[in-house]
Amino acid sequence: MTLFDRLDAMPALSPEERLLLDSVTALARDEIAPRAGAYDRSGEFPWDNIRAINALGLNAMFVPEVYGGAGLSYAAYLACVREISKACASTGIIWATNFHATKPLIDFGTEAQKERLLPRVAEGAIAALAITEPNAGSDATGMTTHFTPDGDDTVIVSGGKIFISNGDVAELTLVFGKWAGIDDPRQAITAIIIEKGTPGLEILRKEDKMGHRAASTAALGFAECRVPRDNLLGEPGGGLKLLLAALNKSRPSVAAHALGIARAAFEDAVAYINERRQSGRRIIEFQGIQFLLADLATDLAMCEAWLWHVADLIERNIDDIAIEASMLKMRASDLAMRIATEAVQLHGGYGYIKEYRVERLLRDAKITQIWEGTNQIHRQLIGRSLIARG
Ligand SMILES: Cc1cc2nc3c(=O)[nH]c(=O)nc-3n(C[C@H](O)[C@H](O)[C@H](O)COP(=O)(O)OP(=O)(O)OC[C@H]3O[C@@H](n4cnc5c(N)ncnc54)[C@H](O)[C@@H]3O)c2cc1C
Repeated sequence: MTLFDRLDAMPALSPEERLLLDSVTALARDEIAPRAGAYDRSGEFPWDNIRAINALGLNAMFVPEVYGGAGLSYAAYLACVREISKACASTGIIWATNFHATKPLIDFGTEAQKERLLPRVAEGAIAALAITEPNAGSDATGMTTHFTPDGDDTVIVSGGKIFISNGDVAELTLVFGKWAGIDDPRQAITAIIIEKGTPGLEILRKEDKMGHRAASTAALGFAECRVPRDNLLGEPGGGLKLLLAALNKSRPSVAAHALGIARAAFEDAVAYINERRQSGRRIIEFQGIQFLLADLATDLAMCEAWLWHVADLIERNIDDIAIEASMLKMRASDLAMRIATEAVQLHGGYGYIKEYRVERLLRDAKITQIWEGTNQIHRQLIGRSLIARG
């Protein structure tokens, strides 16, 4: 058993979850990975990957059984995110975003909301999570999208969002905005689910990106969208608590996605330098190269172990994990970028050529340091938590 085999065996998965993970690994290796390069070049949404994911019933794994799901563990979900993202980072983030947008509904929705909406998710509905606005990125409390009640049954949503993953294809979009009439910017934050086809919901633009080219990223407009009040998640003004709880679950998930990219880059680099010869030796036989690999392998192993540690905290329902989740998101994404950069370097000139996967992995890795809170913001959160309270 190799070092990485032992790490992969670390999460405590049930026999049923191991079987599912084996099916996901086979799907990722045999179908998703071979298509990834073509999707990166065309920039088309990878519908056949999504159909294959739905054929395995993967959205159902994070939906509780009583709402038509399989109710599998968070660790099993993270292991699947990593496997799919290793094969195709675009497909990985599309699927993970379904979870990011749905988990607040699972944790904070009413019975009626869950009975109505979760079976759709379990059957494969795509979801989106809309927080960012043109002038509210790192500081989400600056958002200006607003929700105004109209009678007892309707909420009018006005404003817009940018950079929304799955934004143009989502059946359900969880939108954060401010409740009209509450002055405190933090106390006003509220969450509502907007369903596809709601009048006034507009897809304004699709972004042309450096990486994750097959995953769609859209700007949304809300032109006085009339949304049923039944779609409010939590109470008016209760959105900040919900948002922070949601981020604690989505940050480990984007870390698993980044670690999928890191693992792919690491494996490609090691395979290449075991074959490539210069000066009569394989590149891996040069000691300077071995020292670099030793550092990358060690950091990857440490970070993967931390992933399973955080998964275990979440599995045990420990709420106060914001700092552990920040550390994981920050380190996993920095590592993905570092390993992808070194993988290109270790391929020499070939690393710069699109024929080799590491070229795409480097472009895919960059955003992981930016989304779900930039790494500067995570450093700030971790650093601040160490200030002694006077
Ligand atoms: C491809 C893609 C997909 C995305 N998907 C989604 C999505 O699905 N849903 C969603 O809501 N959003 C999404 N985002 C938005 C993403 O989360 C934001 O881009 C990110 O939070 C940063 O916000 P910003 O772009 O406004 O940058 P800014 O907040 O303007 O930051 C600019 C720079 O200033 C730094 N900075 C800002 N504040 C501080 C500070 N206090 N201290 C130190 N440095 C600071 C930042 O770290 C950054 O380097 C996505 C973005 C992209 C590009």
